[in-house]
Amino acid sequence: MINKAKGTYDVLPTESHKWASLEEKAREILTLFGYKEIRTPIFEYSEVFHRVNEQSDMVTKETYDFFDKGERQLTLRPEGTAGVIRSFVENKLYVENNLNKLFYIGPNFRYERPQKGRFRQFMQFGVEAIGSNDPALDAEVIGLAYFFIKKLGLKGVKVRINSLGDQDSRVAFKAALTAHFTPHKETLCEDCKNRLDKNPLRILDCKIDQKHPAVLSAPTPQDHLNDFSRDYFQAVLDYLDSAHITYEIASKLVRGLDYYTHTVFEIEADIEGFGAQNVLGGGGRYQSLVKELGGPDLPGIGFAFGMERLLLAMEAEEISFVDQHQPDIFILAIDKPARELAVKLLFEAREQNLVADMDYTGTNFKSQFKAALKSNSKYVIIIGEAELSNKVVSIKNTETQEQEQVPVKIAIRTIKNWLGK
Ligand code: AMP
Repeated sequence: MINKAKGTYDVLPTESHKWASLEEKAREILTLFGYKEIRTPIFEYSEVFHRVNEQSDMVTKETYDFFDKGERQLTLRPEGTAGVIRSFVENKLYVENNLNKLFYIGPNFRYERPQKGRFRQFMQFGVEAIGSNDPALDAEVIGLAYFFIKKLGLKGVKVRINSLGDQDSRVAFKAALTAHFTPHKETLCEDCKNRLDKNPLRILDCKIDQKHPAVLSAPTPQDHLNDFSRDYFQAVLDYLDSAHITYEIASKLVRGLDYYTHTVFEIEADIEGFGAQNVLGGGGRYQSLVKELGGPDLPGIGFAFGMERLLLAMEAEEISFVDQHQPDIFILAIDKPARELAVKLLFEAREQNLVADMDYTGTNFKSQFKAALKSNSKYVIIIGEAELSNKVVSIKNTETQEQEQVPVKIAIRTIKNWLGK
C-alpha cells in the first residue's frame, strides 16, 4: 500500500459534499459583491513568487521549487495573489476596466510542519480588487470576508484590523523597529537576527520570539503613521461603521507578506481546541505588487481564507452541511429481461433530471434489496416476473412503505409528479 504524501489529505466521498457546499456558498457571495472568477495555473515561473522585495518565510523557505525537463525553474504556488497579479498584468485586464474585482478558489502548496489546520497542500479562496485607492473599497473587501463568515453561521469570529501606512510611514516604522531591536539582537532567534537587517517588521510575526520582551514592547505601526495614512485608516474605519461591520483594532498586527501597505486585517476564530491555527483568513492592501510584476502603477487589496480551517471551525460550532445526494429512484430487477427494462428506465429517469441508480454488484434479489436500502432512495422500482409480463412496475415509497403498480410507460413520469419535480 502506498500512503498519501506527508501534509496532504484525501477528501472522501462522505466529506466531499461539504467542500462542494462551501465552494458554492463562496461563489454565491462573491457574485453578490460583483467579483468574477479567475483561474490561474498551479505552477508558475519561480520569479512570480521569488521576487527581490519578498522575503517572507513562505517565499524563502516553504515553496516547492523544481526544474522541468526544459530546465525551466518553476514553483508550485504558495498563495493566490502573485499568480493572479501576473495574469492581470499579462492579459492587460486593466485596459478594459478601471477596477477589476476578481476571485479565485484553488490549492496552494507550502512546505510547512503539518498539524491540525496546517497542511502542505491546502485550499484557499480569495479576492483581489485591483485599480482603486478608495478606502471604501478596503471596507468592502473586509466587509465581504465578514459577511461570508456570518452567512456560514460562524459566531465565535472576529475581524482584527490595523494600518501599516503608506510607504513613508512604513519606512519610519521600519527605522523605529531597527533602533528598538538592535540592542537586543543577540537574544533574538537566528531568523530574527537576519530579519533585523532585511525586514524588521517580520520579527513581530516570529513564532519563536512571540513572547520575547523586546517583541512585546516593540513600537507599533500606528505610532508612525503620517497624516495621510492616519486619515486613510480613519476613513476605512468610518466606512466599516457605516456597513455595521464589527472589528477590533489590533495595533500589533503586521501580517506575513512584505508587500502590504495601509490596511491589513485578519479573521480570527475564537474556538476551543483550535490552538495556534485560529486565523481563518486575512489580507491587506498592496501598493507596488502590480508594478513589481511588470504592470502599471496600480494598487490592489485582497484577502484569502483557508478552506480547511473554515470547515474545522464549522465542525467545532456544529454547523452541518446537508448531503443532497439522496437518490430519487433505485431499481431492483429479477433477471436479464427485467434488467434490460431497468437500464431503459434508469436513462429515462436521468433524462428527466431524477437521480436514479441500480445495483451492479449483486445479482440476486436479496443483495439488490440490501443495496436499495443502503442507497436511502426515495422510491424503489421493483421489476419481477409478474411485473414484466403485465408491463407494469411496482413502485415503493420508502418513507410511507406504500407500494403500488404503475404501467411501465408512465412509471418515471408518475414518480416525477409524486416528487413534485
Ligand atoms: P496567508 O496566505 O498565509 O495569509 O494565509 C491565509 C489563510 O490561509 C490562513 O489564515 C489560513 O487559514 C490558510 N493557510 C495558510 N497556510 C496554510 C496551511 N499550510 N494549511 C492550511 N491552511 C493554511
